[in-house]
Amino acid sequence: MESSVFDVVIIGGGIIGLSTALRLKQEQYPNWRIAVVEKDDGLANHQTGHNSGVIHSGIYYRPDSHKARFCVEGAQALLKFCDENEIEYNLCGKVIVAIHESELERLDSLYERGVANGVKGLEIIGPERLKEIEPHVYGIKALWAPGTGIVDYKKVAAAYAGRFQEAGGDIFTGAEVQSITKKPDGLSIETSGGVLQSKHLINCAGLHADRVAEMMGEKIDIRIIPFRGEYYTLTPEARGLVNGLIYPVPDPRFPFLGVHYTRNIHGQVEAGPNAVMALKREGYGKYDVDLMDSWGTLSFPGFWKMSMRYWKIGLGEMHRSYVKSVFVHDLQRLVPEIRSEDLAPGGSGVRAQAVARNGALLDDFHIIQGKEAVHVLNAPSPGATSSLAIGKYIGDLAAEAFGEG
Ligand SMILES: Cc1cc2nc3c(=O)[nH]c(=O)nc-3n(C[C@H](O)[C@H](O)[C@H](O)COP(=O)(O)OP(=O)(O)OC[C@H]3O[C@@H](n4cnc5c(N)ncnc54)[C@H](O)[C@@H]3O)c2cc1C
Repeated sequence: MESSVFDVVIIGGGIIGLSTALRLKQEQYPNWRIAVVEKDDGLANHQTGHNSGVIHSGIYYRPDSHKARFCVEGAQALLKFCDENEIEYNLCGKVIVAIHESELERLDSLYERGVANGVKGLEIIGPERLKEIEPHVYGIKALWAPGTGIVDYKKVAAAYAGRFQEAGGDIFTGAEVQSITKKPDGLSIETSGGVLQSKHLINCAGLHADRVAEMMGEKIDIRIIPFRGEYYTLTPEARGLVNGLIYPVPDPRFPFLGVHYTRNIHGQVEAGPNAVMALKREGYGKYDVDLMDSWGTLSFPGFWKMSMRYWKIGLGEMHRSYVKSVFVHDLQRLVPEIRSEDLAPGGSGVRAQAVARNGALLDDFHIIQGKEAVHVLNAPSPGATSSLAIGKYIGDLAAEAFGEG
């Protein structure tokens, strides 16, 4: 870190930190000195590098929410960015499938939400049309979203980083932010790789965003609770059972989408993810435990209130995590031909889910602005799809808080 005095330091080299950095350097503050600091030796190793790779179209989210707006805007901006930067994507389309009469009302509401959010091309389809799109799927009705796609978000993040550096931005990896001190002339940011001075800070630390906000003395009243999502991978022989993206009608009591099938941009088909509470913030293995992370969760009153509310769903998710036949059974509801031997263990990702003191799972993106800092405290799915729109929003907040460049 030879030159360590900056106008803005962005903490976190995931897709949101990098899109924000790009926005600030290209549009807001081309003449300011801007740096991204990332604790790992590489970029995008956490949520960004461990997700389903779906370019969501914006169906699920409450109209007028940040999620609805940023997802629709972000998906368009992302496709344009991919075209300009020769990043492969595939608009393979997605079906959300109702298998039971009791789901039809929710399917219709999803259609209406999608239309209200400005998603183009949505159609409610019957079983014949569903069979044309996904011949191996069983369903009595489905919502067809032809504009949903797939991409490799690690590649997208690498391209944001490349464009940011070309514009004159700095990226420091292997630099974990450990403390932040407010001084009369700015902030002193101590990292494992050296000390940086900066006038302003943007916190995009994902699974550790609450801790970074607390380092700045923010009273945030939320805690990040990690939820692991585990995947199976279909064996090459079984991949033909899935053409694109096949989702169930989601459970409205829970902010996750339910286990689904995703054909990724590299041609593999993944099934999952579930949502199991993890005992380590970056705990990708079933048995990973970190005492400090576990204490952080268990000592937060919101965790216990959340557990009272969701204990039944939580136990069901754990049961499905440990017993493969339960996972297979759920997958068979959508694709009856799938067999246990078609599924090999796949990867996993950990979601940074913000939980409020009253036990509510924050559903929308949650971004707060102080005098010298902006903190991204909740950026769950569709955060990757929305990354350019979120970067633009943070750029606007920064201009208000930090002044013009
Ligand atoms: C299982 C799963 C599936 C998903 N599927 C999709 C999908 O299909 N489509 C979609 O749009 N979204 C999806 N998402 C959501 C999406 O991945 C996230 O919204 C997005 O990646 C968030 O990006 P981020 O930059 O905030 O976080 P991250 O990618 O987690 O980046 C945060 C970075 O901050 C760094 N950091 C943390 N603490 C410090 C510190 N103290 N000092 C320095 N650096 C630090 C971390 O090392 C990390 O690199 C999914 C998420 C998961 C987990």
